Amino acid sequence: MYETEREDLIKVLRGKGIIDENVLKAFLKVERHLFVPEIIKPHAYSDVALPIGHEQTISQPYTVAFMTQALELNGRSKILEIGTGSGFQAAVLVEMGMKVYSIERNFEIHKNTQKLFDKLGIRAALIYGDGTIGWEEAAPYDRIIVTAGGPEVPNRLLSQLAVGGKMVIPVGDRNCQAMQIITKVSGKEYSKKEVPNFKFVPLIGKQGWKSE
Ligand code: SAH
Repeated sequence: MYETEREDLIKVLRGKGIIDENVLKAFLKVERHLFVPEIIKPHAYSDVALPIGHEQTISQPYTVAFMTQALELNGRSKILEIGTGSGFQAAVLVEMGMKVYSIERNFEIHKNTQKLFDKLGIRAALIYGDGTIGWEEAAPYDRIIVTAGGPEVPNRLLSQLAVGGKMVIPVGDRNCQAMQIITKVSGKEYSKKEVPNFKFVPLIGKQGWKSE
C-alpha cells in the first residue's frame, strides 16, 4: 500500500538535499502509515510532522532523513536513540541494518510502540526511562540521535558516545532549535557543526527541560 506515495516522498527528499542512497532506500521500505493513528494515515506521506497522541508528534520525514544522513552511517553501528515516539526513526535505522537501542519517557507511548514492533517484527531494544541520562548498560554507542529538543547537550550522553562516534541533537529554546552534529574526536575533544531552524517537542528530564 501507498507505494506511489512513498516514491513521491523520496523525490521530495532528494529535492531538499537528501543524497545518501541508503537513507532513501530505507524510506522506500519503511511504511510510515503504519506508525501513525488510523485517521491520519492518508497524510502519512506528506512531508510534515503529524500528531501521534499524548501531545507528541512523529517527526517530519525530511527531518528524520536529515538526521539519519548526518549520522554518516556505514556498516553495522550501535545506535542510541532518545525519544522513541512512534518508532518510525528507529524503524528506519533498523531497516538500514543498525543495532538500535531507543529510550522513551512516556510509558503509554513506549508500550504502544513495543506492541507495534512486535507485530511488525522490528528488532530493536526499546527502553522505558529518561533518555537524558542515556543507557549506560549498553554504552559506548557509535551514534546517538536525540529526537526531542533540549536546552543543552546532556553530558551523560557525550560520555556514552564512542571515540570516533557521532551525535545528532537539536538544542535551543522551546520554540526553535539548532541541530548540533557532534563528533567525538578523542576522550575529551569534540568537533561540532550546527544547522539552524528545527522545531521538536521538548526533551524532558534530568538534563533536559524540567516540565511539559
Ligand atoms: N523519534 C520519534 C520522534 C517522537 S517525538 C519518531 O520517529 O516518531 C519525541 C519523543 O521524545 C516523544 O515521544 C517524547 O515523549 C520523548 N521524550 C521527551 N523527553 C524524553 C526523555 N528525556 N527521554 C526519552 N524520551 C523523551
